[in-house]
This record gives sequence, C-alpha cells and structure tokens, in this order.
Amino acid sequence: MTSGLYGLTFAELEQRLRSEGLKSIHARSLWSWLYRGKSPEQFPAPLKRWWEAQELGNKSGGKVRQEWQSSDGLTRKWLLDLSDGESVETVLMRFSGRWTACVSSQVGCAMGCVFCATGQAGFTRHLGPEEIVDQLRHVQAYLEAEALGRLRNVVLMGMGEPLHNYEAVMQALEIVTDRRGMNLGPGNITLSTVGVIPGIRRMAEEQRPYHLAVSLHGAREEIRSALVPVSRRWPLDELIEACRFYGERTERRIFFEWTLIEGANDSLEQADELAELLQGIPAHINLIPLNPTSAYAGQATSCGPVQAFKGRLKERGYVCTVRQRRGIDVAAGCGQLRGGEGVGRL
Ligand code: SF4
Repeated sequence: MTSGLYGLTFAELEQRLRSEGLKSIHARSLWSWLYRGKSPEQFPAPLKRWWEAQELGNKSGGKVRQEWQSSDGLTRKWLLDLSDGESVETVLMRFSGRWTACVSSQVGCAMGCVFCATGQAGFTRHLGPEEIVDQLRHVQAYLEAEALGRLRNVVLMGMGEPLHNYEAVMQALEIVTDRRGMNLGPGNITLSTVGVIPGIRRMAEEQRPYHLAVSLHGAREEIRSALVPVSRRWPLDELIEACRFYGERTERRIFFEWTLIEGANDSLEQADELAELLQGIPAHINLIPLNPTSAYAGQATSCGPVQAFKGRLKERGYVCTVRQRRGIDVAAGCGQLRGGEGVGRL
C-alpha cells in the first residue's frame, strides 16, 4: 500500500501535496522519507498529520513470492507479487565487484522472440511506473539489509519490451535517477529493445540520457524474422536506419545484442553480414550464447565458434564482448525469465 506515491516524479508529488493544502517544501521531506529513509518523526507538523492519514505502509518494494540464489552466489532472483495477483521477476547480479539489477517492464511480453521464456508465455499487461520503481526499491532494500553496498547498474532486460511501455518506463527512470532520492546514474542505466522503431526514434528526439541496447540476432531479414517475429512489423533495414538516427542525434554508442544459436546465426558469413550492416554506426556488440528454455530446441554455440565469431567482428574493427553468463542454474539468464513459479533453488 503506497497510494501511488512511488509512481510520482518529484514535480508530481509537489503538485499533489499542494493540491492537498501542503507546501512545496513538504515534498522534499516526503521524498526523503520515500527514498532516503528519513524518519517521519522529523516531518513538519502539517506533513506529519497528512502522512498519518495516508496509511503508507510497505517501504521495502514488492512482496516476495519466491526467491532463488545461483550456486556461485553471484545472482539472486525474486518473483515479486503485484497487487492484482500477477507477478514479475527481478534479478540482481554481481559483475566485476559491482551490482547490476535486471528489471522487468511488463508482465509477459508481446514480442514473441522464439528462444525467450517470457515471449513464449505471451503478454499479460504493462507495468505501471510504481511497479518498476518497486523492483529497484526492493533490490536496494536487500543490498542495504545485507550490507552489500550500493546498486550501481540497471538494465531493463527482464520480462517485457521496455519501449512497448514507453511512458511508464521513462517515468520510472525519471523517479529513480532523481538526485534528491534514489540517485541512480542515468549513464548506468541501459534499456534493451528488440527493435521498437518508434521508441528508438522517440528516445533520440527526447535526448533520453540512458544507454540503448538493440537485440539483433540476425543480419538478414529472413534469419532475424525467424527468431524475432516482430521484425516483420519493424523490418531490419528500417531498424538500422532508426539506429543511425539515434546515433547521430545522441552521439551515443549503441549496444547490439546477438544471441548465438548453433547453426542458426553463428556462421562467419553472418558475422561479416553484421559487420556490413552496422557500418558507420557507433556500436558495441554483445554476444550471448543461447540460454536454454523449455519451449525452444536450439542449442548454444560452443566456445570455439563463439570466439571465431567475436574474432571476425574484431578484425572488422568492432568492439565486441561475450556476455558473462549469470544465474543459468536458477533460470535468471537472458531470455529465461517467465514470472511463473520458476525453477532453481534458494
Ligand atoms: S527477448 Fe525480450 S522482447 Fe523478446 S520476447 Fe523476450 S522479453 Fe520480449
């Protein structure tokens, strides 16, 4: 029960308090309570009276239905309850001594990528801004309770397509990057899209200060469409044009994600086609050997061909990394989130 306060930007909170007879300065005190643990005992009397009437109970983010930890201890995954009985998964991972949260933006996903457990389950609904903020509050509360330090990076690569839920995602990011509150660095936040062209263009036009990751998986339309059906709606050539536009407008490098599937998109010919396709775009290519899901029979590319693919892209002048795998034993890897009862162990 948070009365929607965690879904408001600072300006909206200020406006709400003013409309209820309070002053702008009270918004600062309330914002500190919401995001910085300031005690209500320190509130000025009018705000305290207002606050007592609100029943603003739960301060720790979503209620946990289930949680898992990977056997190497580097990944933790939570299934969080939503108020309507739905649930989403949120993942916390440790990379090079830093914590990264992987956040969901929808219950399910409408994009239907064939190798993804979320896509296989279909779309249920968008998350509201508060439900996205709640995931990060939950992660922060966990890190604080365990004295594990601060959350550094956020990726919107959990359940859902963030640019299919543009308004709510941008609102949530505005809230969590507010310096007076959670103060997450916009430059440490990455949105991952499967190629929602209107959202990419809009991010560029609005000069949103976050990183963009585009999931390609194929450098030729027929290969990509077989893996990412939404490519029929937003074709590859138009997607690349939108990426060019984004790169020119923002002068920011784009991360291109490529799930490597044995025999499907892992040939050196595909690496060459990818290199051609991205010419002139400031790019960082992330290679992700396929993570297993029950409804897709494809296999991950093995180590040798992964290195060969990477080597070819490097020869062609691209910055290219192979994504470190995290949380596969608890189904917390890329494409494995499904928001159900899941698998794994605590
Ligand atoms: S990979 Fe991303 S966009 Fe594709 S179905 Fe899964 S959650 Fe949706």
